[in-house]
Amino acid sequence: MAALYAKWRKQSQSPVFREGSSAPPEQLLQAIWQHQRIRRGGLRATDGRRAAILHPGFLNLEAGPDFRRALVQVGTARPFECDIEVDVLSAGWRQHGHDTNPAFSSVGLHVVWRAGVNGPSGLPVVELRNQLDAPLGQLADTLGQATADTPDHVRGQCSAPLRDLPAGAVADLLGQAATVRLETKAAELAAVAGRAGWEQALWEGLFTALGYKQNSWPMRRLAELLPELRRGLGQASEPVVLLARLLGVGGLLPNQLDRDKLTNRYLRALWDQWWRDRDHLAKSILPKSVWTFHGLRPANRPERRLALAAHWLAKGDFAAWLDDWVCRSPKKPSPAAALLARLAVSDRYWSRHWTFRSGRFAAAQPLLGAGRLHDIAVNIILPWLHARATAAGNDGLAARVRQRYFAWPKGQDNSRLRFVRQRLFGDRRIPLRGAALQQGLLQVQSDFCNRTNAVCADCVFPDLVRRYSLKKT
Ligand code: SF4
Repeated sequence: MAALYAKWRKQSQSPVFREGSSAPPEQLLQAIWQHQRIRRGGLRATDGRRAAILHPGFLNLEAGPDFRRALVQVGTARPFECDIEVDVLSAGWRQHGHDTNPAFSSVGLHVVWRAGVNGPSGLPVVELRNQLDAPLGQLADTLGQATADTPDHVRGQCSAPLRDLPAGAVADLLGQAATVRLETKAAELAAVAGRAGWEQALWEGLFTALGYKQNSWPMRRLAELLPELRRGLGQASEPVVLLARLLGVGGLLPNQLDRDKLTNRYLRALWDQWWRDRDHLAKSILPKSVWTFHGLRPANRPERRLALAAHWLAKGDFAAWLDDWVCRSPKKPSPAAALLARLAVSDRYWSRHWTFRSGRFAAAQPLLGAGRLHDIAVNIILPWLHARATAAGNDGLAARVRQRYFAWPKGQDNSRLRFVRQRLFGDRRIPLRGAALQQGLLQVQSDFCNRTNAVCADCVFPDLVRRYSLKKT
């Protein structure tokens, strides 16, 4: 029966590597590294020094190096924490542009199938081809489809006490962490409000979130300039007027009108406005170099994010609508659906274009994906409402905001959540009902995992969980 099963298994898997191929695919090399199917005891760097892998790092599913936060010791030097890049050949380093990409400056070890020229200069290199713990074909069979399994070293030390905790107690613990996260974010927004006022604090939070990781700072800067940018416009205004100012001050308005007819007409409308404003806003114009476009998906271009912000601003009653929203209790649509509908706007130009240069697409695309809108509601809008209620001493309203927070539906799963879940729970399935518990998970990561290394050195969370568990039983 086992032989039959083995045959089924083989038939169900498309081969990731065929004997006789000149080199294995990078995905297989990553799996080999992740599962450490190497001769760990005698591993050598290409310069002959012994390489001890104290932790192989965590597989990175986003842009940047393949493994994050590895712990490595080369020769007799002190162990160091670094990222690791895996390539088939040394030359992949330059071919893939890692030598000029700042995201790769944290790489401390280059792992390759075959070492050669044009790799990173000054980094230790580990060549895999003669240092595997089994024949490559066998590893390809074993690991080809096994990347979804959690290798033991990904699990953190808290996964053992957490495994013994009933699901209800896990939810309670994560719920407490979620409350801390809500209050922490609310306190940050309250600090901005203390300097700039509540509405300004909301815009700074929203713009920063719209910039996502790559462009949060220039977006935040534009938000800080909003009082100047909105001067003379009154409460409500045309989105195109606001967008012309945002793009103009952001240094994102192209000079030439040499695109298709529709784009030229649209650019002319923006420039008609920007001509009038440019002189008095000249001092605030940002250099285009503050924006990051490298590795940015076209859908996430700042021009589209600013178009969305211009629509929100143009309504003039954005903050007042939120105040009203938290006090209302409509059955249909649900409060979350009502808020998301308010946030999701369409734009005649930007719903059908990624950039000023891209062609027009037939079907309209949202200016911001549903997952990101969820994040904005949970990370900015609800904390902002909570901060205001708390500052006003309105306990009833603060409790109402917390209730909305805990009732908010679960957001899309993402690589960060998956990673923390694997660290804390391994392969145990934890039902995370609602966005708040996902936030709780991220809070544990920020409070504990981010303060130590890959082997959880000195992390007190496992002990805290054990004590909590004793109280619960
Ligand atoms: S660092 Fe702490 S909280 Fe994070 S996985 Fe390790 S033991 Fe758990």
